[in-house]
Amino acid sequence: MDLVFATNNLHKISEINKLLKQHLHNENDLYKILSLEDIKCFEDIQETSNTLEGNASEKSRYIYNKYKINCFADDTGLEIEALDGKPGVYSARYAGDERSFERNMNKVLRELQGKTNRKARFRTVISLIIDGKEKLFEGIVNGIIIDEKRGEKGFGYDPIFQAEGYNISFAEMSLVEKNKISHRGIATRKLIDYLLKS
Ligand code: IMP
Repeated sequence: MDLVFATNNLHKISEINKLLKQHLHNENDLYKILSLEDIKCFEDIQETSNTLEGNASEKSRYIYNKYKINCFADDTGLEIEALDGKPGVYSARYAGDERSFERNMNKVLRELQGKTNRKARFRTVISLIIDGKEKLFEGIVNGIIIDEKRGEKGFGYDPIFQAEGYNISFAEMSLVEKNKISHRGIATRKLIDYLLKS
């Protein structure tokens, strides 16, 4: 079955293909993941909701309704307890529209200065639509925001996030190591398990 991943992030597409291959072992490929480019969708799909669930749904519904093709979309946020769940759904543009990873992290570190509660979590929501029916999958990784940036790998808030049970930041982990425990890895494995059972 063809399944569109409603993202322009080719890195995410290759990640899910890798996971699908791992899970399918040597069986025939049941699913072919297509990108937005593959279906000639070059629009900037709106994300107008104030929840991760709402945004993931908005993107998958848009593609399903317009192209009549089975698809899924994801949305991720960093939720910090002492900041009442912020930056949350606004993670990408927390410090402004230029979506600067550095500025976003600096803003978080500034806002947490002097605060002892450093608890945070990454949360990913995936919305899957098959034959018009929607199903949501969630992945969460709990951790803390450390005092300063550490590590060069990854992206976004990785240098300031340390997962529970680890003493290195996400940006100090290899991608393979991060995917094993990450929010997106967990949500994606739930999606794949579901696809393989249906
Ligand atoms: P998206 O929904 O995957 O585009 O994620 C929204 C924003 O959350 C990104 O622009 C990043 O700032 C942040 N983010 C998402 N996933 C991660 C991650 O795995 N590590 C660090 N930051 C992330």
